[in-house]
Amino acid sequence: MTIPTQPNAKELVKSQLETGQEQLVDRFGRVVDYVRLSVTDRCDLRCVYCMAEKMTFLPKSQILSLEEITQIAAAFVSLGVKKIRLTGGEPLVRYGIDELVSQIGQLEGIQDFTMTTNGTQLPKYAQALRGAGMNRINISLDTLRADRFKALSRIGEIEKVFAGIKAAQKVGFDKIKLNAVILKGHNDDEILPLVQYAIDGGMDISFIEEMPLGEVDSRSRFDQYCSSDEVREIISKRYSLEPSHLNTGGPSKYWSIVNTNTKVGFISPHSHNFCDTCNRVRVTVEGRLLLCLGQEHSMDLRAIIREHPNDIEILKQALRDSMAIKPKGHDFNLSEQPVLFRHMSVTGG
Ligand code: SAM
Ligand code: SF4
Repeated sequence: MTIPTQPNAKELVKSQLETGQEQLVDRFGRVVDYVRLSVTDRCDLRCVYCMAEKMTFLPKSQILSLEEITQIAAAFVSLGVKKIRLTGGEPLVRYGIDELVSQIGQLEGIQDFTMTTNGTQLPKYAQALRGAGMNRINISLDTLRADRFKALSRIGEIEKVFAGIKAAQKVGFDKIKLNAVILKGHNDDEILPLVQYAIDGGMDISFIEEMPLGEVDSRSRFDQYCSSDEVREIISKRYSLEPSHLNTGGPSKYWSIVNTNTKVGFISPHSHNFCDTCNRVRVTVEGRLLLCLGQEHSMDLRAIIREHPNDIEILKQALRDSMAIKPKGHDFNLSEQPVLFRHMSVTGG
């Protein structure tokens, strides 16, 4: 299967790079150089904090085609975006993902090309991703215990994720990072084992505070909320942490674990608001450009592309215009749920 890139998309990016790079800057002076593209709302798992047990997925006509996703990526890169992350849903369950990665990997100007995945399909795809120029990968892993993994993901088998991690290690990504959402009473007793697992595998690990996106079930997100500070305190009792200057262009704040190759990151939308330095936007699989994870300010890129197929200039102008509606920040509040009716799987985590 081949995906035709937008006519002249690569050339366009190349000429922009040669003539001086335009950048996307919002009205608060923040440069947007990082885009997360959701390539599917579907998934082979049903993590309790992310999805409801029974989900209705979008029909094919409503989701962006692979060609449209490539076109959007090309337009962003021509406007100075340097980092692209593919996510979902589970990006590796999208049919043709290997070709999409190959097309985006060829866009000149991307410095950091990465994916967030649950890892189950990595034995099949790790080689293709690495070969297409993907340099880093994030793999979600909230527990090391098979029974818990089944409970947290509702249907998953942890052995598949371990096999995926091994496959990723084998193909030599520059860095593999684990992502763990810690929920009190569910997996907060595994913080140290997860850190040790990352150290043993030469990987980084980020701990993410749960965000109130979409109705997932009847339990209260507030009761199980575990702050980054609590997690860091637990880790620092066992390991020596030093503040790290590592900046991967994302919202994680990093600490180095002394005498290891591992950094620990904390993504703390509640306890340490990261909006001041926000450099990113998201595109949902329906082509909705979301200017903030926690707000509804958006632009319908799918309508623009379908109304003006093959006109990348109109798409680029829309992206420039969108900077005027990027909000100052989110206002997540865990005691009111759900704050947003979009699930993380639709938003693109
Ligand atoms: N399926 C892939 C995966 O699980 O890595 C990519 C999509 S998933 C939505 C991206 C990340 O969002 C995962 O690390 C997941 O743990 C995290 N996530 C999902 N729902 C969340 C929520 N409500 N709050 C915080 N993180 C969440
Ligand atoms: Fe699927 Fe990722 Fe959501 Fe889990 S967190 S249900 S793996 S999209």
